[in-house]
Amino acid sequence: MDYFPVFLDLRGRLCTVVGGGEVASRKTASLRRAGARVRIVAPDLCAPLAVAARRREVEHIRARFSPASIEGACIVVAATDDDTINRAVARTCKERSIPVNVVDAPELCTFVMPAVIDRSPVIVAVSSGSTAPVLSRLLRAKLESVIPASIGKLALLAGRFRQAVKDKLALPEARRRFWERVFQGPIGELALAGQSEQAERALGAAIEQAGSTDTVAGEVWLVGAGPGDPDLLTFRALRLMQQADVIVYDHLVGDGILDLARREAHFIYVGKQSSNHTLAQEDINALLVHLAKQGQRVLRLKGGDPFVFGRGGEELEALSHHGIPFQVVPGVTAASGMSCYAGIPLTHRDYAQACVFVTGHLKDGSMSLDWEALARPNQTVVVYMGMAALPEICRQLMRHGLPAHTAAAVVQQATTPKQRVVSGSLETLPHLAKAAGMQAPALIVVGEVVKLRRTLEWFVPEPHATAAVSCEV
Ligand code: SAH
Repeated sequence: MDYFPVFLDLRGRLCTVVGGGEVASRKTASLRRAGARVRIVAPDLCAPLAVAARRREVEHIRARFSPASIEGACIVVAATDDDTINRAVARTCKERSIPVNVVDAPELCTFVMPAVIDRSPVIVAVSSGSTAPVLSRLLRAKLESVIPASIGKLALLAGRFRQAVKDKLALPEARRRFWERVFQGPIGELALAGQSEQAERALGAAIEQAGSTDTVAGEVWLVGAGPGDPDLLTFRALRLMQQADVIVYDHLVGDGILDLARREAHFIYVGKQSSNHTLAQEDINALLVHLAKQGQRVLRLKGGDPFVFGRGGEELEALSHHGIPFQVVPGVTAASGMSCYAGIPLTHRDYAQACVFVTGHLKDGSMSLDWEALARPNQTVVVYMGMAALPEICRQLMRHGLPAHTAAAVVQQATTPKQRVVSGSLETLPHLAKAAGMQAPALIVVGEVVKLRRTLEWFVPEPHATAAVSCEV
């Protein structure tokens, strides 16, 4: 983070605004909305500021900036159109460790002002760190449309009962669940609909009924995180990620996705790279059972789809055996993500009427795939976990009848900024992939659909990631 967001309590505190024009007027208005006492330092004032000064709503020092004018201020805003003055203000503030904002000069600022959605006491601030204020404002407009106007009332209601709930429910865990039920249930709806009295009565009753131990049964949510791009998560995955107590995740789940999960959740990494299992599958099963039995809401987050080469079924069997409730949320499987982001349709009227997903994971060094079925024409074969066996896979497909010139590709880290694609033929691909240093996680895709990439490619990953060897077929 380039900036650390905080919310300042400016009520009754002195803030100095240097400058008397329209921009200074807007900044003054924002500061006054937060209850600040504003001192304006400027030889002249624009009309609205002159009115405010006359009414003594702001203090006016009719002078140019001097270090004395920021005496006692807790923050300072420089809003003059004179660069020399703005720089002098910034310098003086920095010397005295007073936070300073210079309008339109981020390099002189020690704090920036966000775009604000004010639903007091709920306040949402959006900042692009001074890179794109218009973008922040667009984002604010979007948020405005999804945050109910009366959310502030709901927050005030909760504030009034916060202590009562604390007295009744000793465990922080139980309190959190209580409040989640309130905000997401009928009481929240009443408050948002402006029916404050009914909401208050219902909340009082709910607190009465809340058990002092309030032990809640644990459960497990088996959730597909998709192939990498966080935008490919489902809404349901996102919602559950924000409610979980514990998140148990694999190496295929990237930071961009974990960043969207509830901050306070406990994160447990259970690894699983093909030959480097951090925890054995049985241990993962046991861990899920153990956590759920403690009453936790466990989110088991897996790359792609949990039921596609994910061993999700085995985990659920263990849970079912122990009578632990669970839900399963599908995710975009790697083949699907790869197909769309690499411009390689899995099926196509002219080239492939079928599509097969197989695993190329070598167990004890041997692969027991039905090569005859895979080597059929007019189908697309996608191999998961096949990188170690790439030469063997290409050899077997040729041996079982596919022409050596059949198009084939390896796609690494599909859908992410690090996506790389190497394409060639069954004959050339092993060499090309090796030369390009292609590594897991990657998919091998075999079939004439690979040729469509030439016209259907659209996704541009990070520049340094595209340096892959690509041989047109
Ligand atoms: N459940 C997952 C698959 C897990 S098996 C799913 O539905 O996608 C792990 C294999 O998936 C990796 O070895 C790799 O072959 C493939 N894989 C997962 N994510 C990938 C990605 N972003 N790009 C390419 N291959 C990926």
